[in-house]
Amino acid sequence: MFLSVFDIFKIGVGPSSSHTMGPMVAGGRFLDSLRARPFRTHGLRASLHGSLAFTGKGHATDRATILGLAGFLPETMNAEAAEAVLAENRDTKTLSPEGLGDLAFDPARDLIFDFDRALPGHANGMILMATDAQGDVIYQQTYYSIGGGFVLTEAELAARGDDTRTDASPKVPHPFASAAEMLHMAENSGKSIAAMKRENERVFRTDAEISAGIHHIWQVMRDCMDRGIATGGILPGGLSIRRRAAGIHAALKAEAGMNLTAPHVINDWMSMYAMAVNEENAAGGQVVTAPTNGAAGVVPAVIRYWLDHVPGASERQLDDFLLTASAVGGLIKHNASISGAECGCQAEVGSASAMAAAGLCAVLGGTPQQVENAAEIALEHHLGMTCDPVKGLVQVPCIERNGLGAIKAVSAASLALRGDGNHFVPLDSAIETMRQTGADMSEKYKETSLGGLAVNVPNC
Ligand code: SF4
Repeated sequence: MFLSVFDIFKIGVGPSSSHTMGPMVAGGRFLDSLRARPFRTHGLRASLHGSLAFTGKGHATDRATILGLAGFLPETMNAEAAEAVLAENRDTKTLSPEGLGDLAFDPARDLIFDFDRALPGHANGMILMATDAQGDVIYQQTYYSIGGGFVLTEAELAARGDDTRTDASPKVPHPFASAAEMLHMAENSGKSIAAMKRENERVFRTDAEISAGIHHIWQVMRDCMDRGIATGGILPGGLSIRRRAAGIHAALKAEAGMNLTAPHVINDWMSMYAMAVNEENAAGGQVVTAPTNGAAGVVPAVIRYWLDHVPGASERQLDDFLLTASAVGGLIKHNASISGAECGCQAEVGSASAMAAAGLCAVLGGTPQQVENAAEIALEHHLGMTCDPVKGLVQVPCIERNGLGAIKAVSAASLALRGDGNHFVPLDSAIETMRQTGADMSEKYKETSLGGLAVNVPNC
C-alpha cells in the first residue's frame, strides 16, 4: 500500500486523530455502506471498545461518533453546523444523514461505552449498527481506528496481514519499505529522500498538485498555530487548564529587542509554537495530523522555528521538509505504529519528533544518511514513553510534550549534521525497538488513562 504525504498530513479536527477523527470517518463509511444496501434503516447504534471506551469521553469520541453518523467529515466539518446538529439530536433523538431519512439515535441509549469487551483487532474498536423499526440490529460493521485518522474494517485489517510496506508499491519508482532500502535507493539513484518521495507521489498526482497540496497543508498548520498564539482562556474538559501559548508569545515578543536574552530562550519559542497548535487541538479546533492530532504540534513548530529563526530558510523548501518527514512517518507507521493506543506516546510524539528531525535535517542540507540519523536520534530518545493523559483529555502531558518533542527534533537534526551520516543504531532498529516496546507495554500506558500521570495527578 502506498502511503502518500497527504495520508500522513491530513486536515481534521481535535482533539484526537484516533479517538475523534477516526470515529467520525468510520461513521461516514458506515453511512455509505447503508446507502448501498436495499433495506430500509430505522435507527442507528454504536458501541465503543477498548481505548475508545476508556478515554472516549475526554477525547470527544461520543460527539465525533454522533457527527460522523450525521454525515460530517473531519476535513470539511463546519463547527456551527455541527453544533446545530448536536442540539437538534438532543431534542429529537434522531439523526438525518443525507439520503437515509430520519434515523432514531438517542445517545443515552444508542451510544454504548463498553468497558468490558475489547475487540480483537486493535485497541480502538467500534461497532456501528443499523436497526429496524423494532430496534433489532439488521446490519453491523466493525471498524478499527488505527491512528492518524486511518480507519479499517475488520476485513481490511485482516487483509492487511503482514504487509508492512509503505512506499513499496510496485507502481512507484522508488519502492522502499525500510530505512535501509530507502538509503540504498538514494545511493543508487543519487537522489535525496524528498526527490524520491516526490517521484513516488507523481504516480498519483501532478507536480503542481503535490506542491499546491503541501502548501495548503502548511497554511492550515500555520493558521492553527496563529489562532493558538492569539487565544487565551481555559481549555474545555474540566481540568481548568489555562492556555499558555498566547502569554508566552507576548513575553517573548517583549524580550525580543533586549540584548541579554539567554540562548536557551529559543527553546521557549519552539515550545510555544507547538503548544499553540496543541491548545487549539485540545479545544477541538482544526489541525493537521502530523502524524496524529495528539502530536500535531511538533512538525509545524519545527517548520516555524526554521522559517522564522534560521538564516536562509525559505518556504520554497517546504516541499522537501514535508516530503522527507512523510517518508519517515510512513516507515514508522508501517513497520511499527503511530498510535498511542497501540504503542504509547513514543509512537505519537516520538514519531512526530523523528519526522520533524528528518525534515529539518533535509532542508539544512543533510545527506540521506544524515537525515536517517536525525530521525533515528529523535526516535531513540523517545523510546518507552507512555501515553497517560489525565482525565482522558489530550492536554496533560500532551501539550507540553509536543514542545519538548520539537526541541528534541531540532537537537537531533543538529547532532546528525555534526556527523557524516555513519552512526551506531540504524533507524530500522529504533523503529523495531519501538514496536517491541509497545507490544510489551502494559495496557495501562496505552491511552486508557488507567496508569501514570492519569492516576497520580488529582484532577478534581
Ligand atoms: S500522551 Fe501522547 S499519545 Fe497519549 S494522548 Fe497525549 S500526545 Fe497522544
